Order: sequence, then structure tokens, then C-alpha cells
Amino acid sequence: MSILEMLPGYAGRGSPERESEVLLSLVASGLSSLSGWQGRVDRRRPYDSRLQLGLDRLAVACVREGLEAPVGVADLVWSWCAERPMRDWPLVLDPDAQADGELLLIDGVPSEFCREWVRANRDLVADVHESALVNHVKDVARALGRPELYAHWRMLLTEKAVLSAAEMVRQRNRFLDVASWAVWLDESYEPIPSEGTVDGQIAVCRRCRQWMSPSGGEGWVCPSWRCAGHRYGSVPNMRGGEGAYRLQADLVGYIALPGQWELRLANALAARGARVVVSPGYDALDTVATWPGGFAIGVDVKDWRNPFLLARKIKMFPEWSGSHAYAYGKGFVAVPKDRTRGRQEYFRILCKHSQALHAQPHVQAITIEELIQQCPDLGTPGVVSCGP
Ligand SMILES: [Zn+2]
Repeated sequence: MSILEMLPGYAGRGSPERESEVLLSLVASGLSSLSGWQGRVDRRRPYDSRLQLGLDRLAVACVREGLEAPVGVADLVWSWCAERPMRDWPLVLDPDAQADGELLLIDGVPSEFCREWVRANRDLVADVHESALVNHVKDVARALGRPELYAHWRMLLTEKAVLSAAEMVRQRNRFLDVASWAVWLDESYEPIPSEGTVDGQIAVCRRCRQWMSPSGGEGWVCPSWRCAGHRYGSVPNMRGGEGAYRLQADLVGYIALPGQWELRLANALAARGARVVVSPGYDALDTVATWPGGFAIGVDVKDWRNPFLLARKIKMFPEWSGSHAYAYGKGFVAVPKDRTRGRQEYFRILCKHSQALHAQPHVQAITIEELIQQCPDLGTPGVVSCGP
């Protein structure tokens, strides 16, 4: 054992914690890839190889603990992931991970815990699902020296999950001097297929504004876990599907859903008189808000349910000061308040486990609602903008 491994809390290579995290990452990422971004796990499709790798490691852990191991991948998926909470797996996880009661699969789809685990631990399994289109748009905008194009694209996708045929034409023609713009939109949206409609109608969730999938006579299913409780309950907004376009499913997950909170925050700060720039510096931050008189903040919005997993995804904030167009004083990692409700430990766990927060004392973790309250309110509205 090395000196490092004798330190409390050190989860080094080969440690039981590390081994458990790799096992869980293999299984969770295998499950996520099975189902695509949404929709139910298709029992007929071949299983992902990561599930087999996870199964092999789980078998070893079971032997060590004297447990009966799953007999195959199907058993792993349907008896373990769907029915056995984490506390009954032979894993060694940090108590702050609050994993005990979590299931990896709920109603046949990867749970929010499963998805957050994959996002937080991508480096454990070389399995990066980042959208190639996001990187492409960023690269082209950078090559053109037009960061605002990237911000406009992101904003459009966040605001409009469905476009009528006429809106699509109007949006494609917005930047006639940039040939790539129309191509980006063609890649971002798809004509709504007939299986996405019922009687020629498409449903849009009133809560998260995303298009919903028809669910075989049971109503409509929203792609957001945040709306899971509303799956069959709320009445969606109905729109004509004829000739209309919808956002590609992977972009709903990567951009539109997280973007809802960024947009809400941006609008709230602008309502208090700030000039708010969204996605400054190609997403170096989500928002920089500046008030006349010089008060300025930089914000990264994080809509995560599990603070232990979120801690791994907090990044170093850019050092923008002095005459920089986006100079800001204080930085904030802002979390929707309902994520912390009834969970006094949320920020304690987040701060304890985030190296980036330790390294940046000028960055504070806070709820979105508190942050808005702390900002000046001039009584006259400012603007939300995509560039300086
Ligand atoms: Zn929804």
C-alpha cells in the first residue's frame, strides 16, 4: 500500500472505492447507451459490452462478499439494476454519495441517479457521448471569430423545441452571411415523424417546453426526469405536427433541458436591470450579468439531483477581470432550489467534495432563487444578449 492510500478518504487506483466506482460506471453507462436518450430499454437489442464487463466485475465482488452473482446480463439488468437498490450491491461507496436507496433502472429507463453517475464519471470509462454537433458549431464559430453565433444557436435550441415550417424558414435565414448557420439548423431539427404525432398533433410539455412522445394510448411522455411525476398527469400543449420540425433528441438532453434554467436565470437578472450575456466565451460560463455601476457576476447553472456527483463536474471559472468584456467580481455555481429542498446536506456535500470550489474561494455555491434575491434591482429592465 502506498502512503497516499493510507490517507483517509483517498480512493486510489485499485482501492475498493475505485473498483466500485469503475464497476458502477460500466453498468450505468452500458444501461444509458442501451436506451438512447429516451424511450424504454428494448429487450430485443443486443446488450452493450460494458454491461458484460460490469457483470464480470460484479461476479468477482459477489464472490468476495458471499453473495449470489447475477447469472447473465439480462439478470443484471432486470433483477439487479431494476429491482435491487444500491445498498444491496457489494460496493464500497462514499456515504455522501447518498446511493443507498437508488435504483439504476426505473420503469425500464435509466434513472436520474444512473444518468448523473455516468455524466460525473465519464473518465472512468472511456465513453464520451458528447454531441459531435455541439463541438462542430463551437469550432466553426471560433474559426469565424463569431462567438455570438454559437450563443444564438444554443439560445434558439433552448427556446424552441418545435418549429413550424414557416418558423424554420425564418430561422434558417437569420444569418445570411454565415452559410453554416442554415446547415446547423438542418442538423439540429428533424421533420416530425408520423410516430411522433397523434391525429396529426404533437404535444409540448407545459413544464419544460420539450416535445413529448406518444405512449401507446397512455397519453404523452416528457423526456425530462424533472417532469416524471407529471408523465401522465398534466395536459400538454398541443400543436399541429404537419410540416413541423422538432429538436433532435440528443440535443434535448445536452442543450435544451439544462438550458431552461440558464434562460430562466438570465431573464430574471435582466428583469432586475442587468445586461446579461449567455454562453460567454463558448460556454466558459453560462452567464455573465453586469449592472450599470459595475456590479458583475459570473454564473454556472447546475441542475443536478446528487451533490456528490455534481462535485466532480464543477470546473475552474475563467479569470476575466479589468478591461475584459466579461469582467466579473464574484462567481456562483447556482442550483435550482427544489434540488436542495429537504436536503440540508446538499451544499455541505457539494463543497466538501469539489476540488474546484476549494481552489476558488471567490466562487460560491447557492440556489438560483437566493442568487437572484442577492442581486441589485434597478426597477428598469436590462437585456439578455448573445455577445458583448
Ligand atoms: Zn416536461
